[in-house]
Amino acid sequence: MTTEQKWVYNFGGGSSDGDASLKNLLGGKGANLAEMASLGLPVPPGFTITTDLCTLYYQNDRKWPNGLEQMVDNAVARIGEVVGKVFGDTGNPLLVSVRSGARASMPGMMDTVLNLGLNDETVAGLATLSGDERFAYDSYRRFIQMYSDVVLGVGHHTFEDLLDTYKEENDFFLDTDLKAADWKQVIASYKQAVEQELGRPFPQDVREQLRGAIDAVFGSWRNDRANTYRRLHNIPESWGTAVNVQAMVFGNMGESSATGVAFTRDPSTGENAYYGEFLINAQGEDVVAGIRTPQALTKRAREAMGDDAASLEEAMPETYKELEAVFQKLEKHYRDMQDIEFTIQQGKLWMLQTRNGKRTAKAALKIAVDMCDEKLITEEEAVMRVEPGSLDQLLHPSLDPDAPRDQLTKGLPASPGAASGEVVFNSDEAERLAQEGHKVILVRVETSPEDIHGMHAATGIVTARGGMTSHAAVVARGMGRPCVCGAGELRIEKDGSSFSVAGRQVAKGEKITIDGNTGQVFFGEVKTVQPELSGDFAKVMTWADKCRRMKVRANAETPLDARTALDFGAEGIGLCRTEHMFFDAERIIAVREMILAESKSGREAALTKLLPMQRGDFKELFEVMSGFPVTVRLLDPPLHEFLPHSDNEIEEVAKASGMDAEKLKARAHSLKEFNPMLGHRGCRLGVSYPEIYEMQVRAIMEAACDVSAGGDPVTPEIMIPLVAQKKELSLLKERVDAIAKAVLAEKGQELDYMVGTMIELPRAALTADKIAEDAEFFSFGTNDLTQTTFGLSRDDAGTFLPDYIRHGILERDPFVTLDQEGVGELVEIAAERGRKTRPDIKLGICGEHGGDPDSIHFVEKVGLDYVSCSPYRVPIARLAAAQSALAK
Ligand code: ADP
Ligand code: MG
Ligand code: MG
Repeated sequence: MTTEQKWVYNFGGGSSDGDASLKNLLGGKGANLAEMASLGLPVPPGFTITTDLCTLYYQNDRKWPNGLEQMVDNAVARIGEVVGKVFGDTGNPLLVSVRSGARASMPGMMDTVLNLGLNDETVAGLATLSGDERFAYDSYRRFIQMYSDVVLGVGHHTFEDLLDTYKEENDFFLDTDLKAADWKQVIASYKQAVEQELGRPFPQDVREQLRGAIDAVFGSWRNDRANTYRRLHNIPESWGTAVNVQAMVFGNMGESSATGVAFTRDPSTGENAYYGEFLINAQGEDVVAGIRTPQALTKRAREAMGDDAASLEEAMPETYKELEAVFQKLEKHYRDMQDIEFTIQQGKLWMLQTRNGKRTAKAALKIAVDMCDEKLITEEEAVMRVEPGSLDQLLHPSLDPDAPRDQLTKGLPASPGAASGEVVFNSDEAERLAQEGHKVILVRVETSPEDIHGMHAATGIVTARGGMTSHAAVVARGMGRPCVCGAGELRIEKDGSSFSVAGRQVAKGEKITIDGNTGQVFFGEVKTVQPELSGDFAKVMTWADKCRRMKVRANAETPLDARTALDFGAEGIGLCRTEHMFFDAERIIAVREMILAESKSGREAALTKLLPMQRGDFKELFEVMSGFPVTVRLLDPPLHEFLPHSDNEIEEVAKASGMDAEKLKARAHSLKEFNPMLGHRGCRLGVSYPEIYEMQVRAIMEAACDVSAGGDPVTPEIMIPLVAQKKELSLLKERVDAIAKAVLAEKGQELDYMVGTMIELPRAALTADKIAEDAEFFSFGTNDLTQTTFGLSRDDAGTFLPDYIRHGILERDPFVTLDQEGVGELVEIAAERGRKTRPDIKLGICGEHGGDPDSIHFVEKVGLDYVSCSPYRVPIARLAAAQSALAK
């Protein structure tokens, strides 16, 4: 190990070693602190220990490599020089914060220690130096609590209990009621508690303190909350975290001091107005912890909320102006909305963090459009600024304005969307009930990082305490969960059986509805409606469509779905699963009759009933999709999904077909398969029973002729499923052509149609060159292709896939995000071989992956012609396809 390597980067005090481009090495926080310092903004000086060192630390059994200690000592000394203080000096002590900071922001997942460098002697020095004894001892007690919690593993409850007891015994209500002498007593009890629990005193050596805190930050990279967060957000463990050590500035130095958080635009609506919260005479996380209710940053926001407490704009107009100038400078520089943490020490502003702010989808769209109008970014950049998956939030329902409702209470509109569900009070229970298929609303006093899994499982979240930047609010917005925060009237019973609000009682398990757009909470289930997609959304989508190369189609069977898809911008149907058209209660009987028929004539009788139904369906679809391509897949029913199960169902079929019920039962039994997914389905059914596909082709062609005659041009694309070999397709195509020709002759019409196949078996992918001799198009059925490539039943994988993810064998569920290495390779091979035989072959993808942004990215690289996905994902696919094209 060499000491040549640079593990420590200084920032502030006139110069910085790093800048924003070194985000991977310095973490987001460290890189941006360096950048802000270089921009000349007031940043307390400090240094960053790199993420590389974090990786090394873990490889090295959590030991410091040679040389690091010296680098840290030097860097601490440099901070001291800049601020004119000395670390550990009893007369003029330097205090620092020790902060985590990974490449991706992980709000609240890892630990921070403030006021490090205080001990029994330096605290006295700080008191003299500041002339404020109360401030010094307040800082010391905060430090002991934080350090003990984060580094020594003595839970904060120990300290909260001691403080509560002290307050009760002395008739104090607020922390601010305590004087220096009180804090000294509280500190004595804190230290005693630590010594009792650990068997050794609270560390007084400041270098030992610092070393412990740095270890704890590195250690926090692998704590449970961080692990869960990384898993949910696909952040690799290998990234590691950086550690930032920075001179303290104090927001708790009296009435001219404060601490706050701010956004340069409203992160919820995107409105171009400063937005934030602050607390006077407070430190660090006080604002987000929900201990005191924070005040609004601007006068406008205060008035809008009907708040009495002065805004920062009113309370400290000079400093506020300075802050505004910083906002403007940062937005111009980063060309994006910033999320900022600041502290004011006796009227002087200090910047402690900036990053591109997280935002709702609605805000992302508005900010992108506004910044484009402001000429800050281009249309293409605007398209890149909106995360495709986040559009899902907008496609969420909102409350039906006409629906009756019974309001229980109102909190803050922390994360948009409406949701209903059963009330639960703890996260484990929320997770368990959600797994059992319940919709739940998680109701908490406040949330903490330990609640992540429960918040994820819930359809909505309510908290009694905390502001718009509280943990619950930030995390819910990130997850796209509707959330109401700070519903202050709400009281949760200690035993967790119910909550009460305004004299009413709501028990666990009862349904409530929340509106994350207004902050309202209602009793019972309130009807919801779909959103209107115009304005900024439409604008960004238009820009996206200009950049997009691939077409986007929808998977749809019903006219309703097809119309929804069109409204969302679909350019055709990529997959019409004809078996889905039979799920209707009435039709399923005829389908069962067809499947269970013992003879060709029996089958034909059933098919005769189905023909007009199918023709009617196709006509409607063709009409809705006027002019756009429609791919109809011939029947592919895994038999087990269609066989009758109960006696009642058998009876129905018996009645309809005139067959004997006992015989039917026996027949159904004989059709049972061991592996229906690999059984008599897809084109195999077509091979055995030609009349089924013949009926379907007839229905398609007759409908196409009728609709074309009516003036809507139709080019049907007839798709044969589950082909493994060219010969299967050759045989079936011949039959399709024969029927098509016959229909056209009967109708006396000319009409183009295409015949193609799904590529959903590895053998088909590998022999795509031969299959392309008959197929005019391929549609990659990546659900089955994933299933057959992995040899993994998609109906059974749910029980063990989580283990695979947990052990890191799979990074993602391959049924959600395409496995590029294996399944993707087959797609590439098939595309290449298919094109070799037929250069103009049309290629698309129609599995679930067609609506998954990462998979779409891959598909763009392979150069397919279109993706097809469920109607509600069409906008997501349009945006993702545009971004993929731009990324090329
Ligand atoms: P997180 O990543 O959880 O936001 P931070 O490292 O940003 O954690 O620390 C949380 C808060 O602690 C900051 O927002 C700030 O208010 C306070 N803080 C951190 N470092 C300092 C410092 N050097 N001086 C004053 N306050 C600090
Ligand atoms: Mg924090
Ligand atoms: Mg922070």
